[in-house]
Amino acid sequence: MKCPECGKSSRVVDSRSRYSEVTRRRECRKCGARWTTTETGNRDAFKRCTRCRQVWPRSDTFYSADKRNADGLHSWCKPCFSKYDSRRKTERRVALARIRRSEAA
Ligand SMILES: [Zn+2]
Ligand SMILES: [Zn+2]
Repeated sequence: MKCPECGKSSRVVDSRSRYSEVTRRRECRKCGARWTTTETGNRDAFKRCTRCRQVWPRSDTFYSADKRNADGLHSWCKPCFSKYDSRRKTERRVALARIRRSEAA
């Protein structure tokens, strides 16, 4: 990458990646200018579940399709969804059983 000050090539002093974001600290050998760049080129390859906060690859293997969302995938990952779904089914079964019991009495 070229230095924004003098246009000479720079070197990377430090780089750290967090999820799919890479932040690089750069320094120009020529004039000593310092700046940071953030590369988010492959950010779209990953998506964070809003429920369990895990980062999964952005694909329908990990997220169910949801047309209401901008990216076409649900904001919850599939593991969270199946957990939620099975709990909801159990709750309904319990509620139905309770109704049936009260009707029988
Ligand atoms: Zn420079
Ligand atoms: Zn999740």
